[in-house]
Amino acid sequence: MLEIPSISHIECPFCCEEIVRPTKAITATCPNCGKTIALDSRVFNQKYVFSGEILTRGNISVGEKGFVKGDLSATDIVIEGIVEGNVKAVGRILLSQSGSLIGNAEARRLVVSEGATLSGNLKIGLKSNKEKNG
Ligand SMILES: [Zn+2]
Repeated sequence: MLEIPSISHIECPFCCEEIVRPTKAITATCPNCGKTIALDSRVFNQKYVFSGEILTRGNISVGEKGFVKGDLSATDIVIEGIVEGNVKAVGRILLSQSGSLIGNAEARRLVVSEGATLSGNLKIGLKSNKEKNG
């Protein structure tokens, strides 16, 4: 199991402004666009089907017994089970050897272990607004 470092700064998913993450809060309001950003991390260890997208600036982990059907957007996403949907991480997507992703992946960094299943389009290495602006 890889350690996920705690996050002190997050990128607003709506306007891409980088904001300081309040400690212990599970939501934050972006000072730039005023929208509410979920910060809670989620772990899926069973079947979970939904329509639309789970959008958080916490981390999402899909365990070996997890099966998620729907779109995910988070800071870091770890997939050890099955995900059918589009996955977007402003940080890293980690697809472990037991992991299976059927859908498109968009992330700054992607780690795919030997034995993993990945079927979809990839967009890797996207820079944040801050990095783009120098
Ligand atoms: Zn914003």
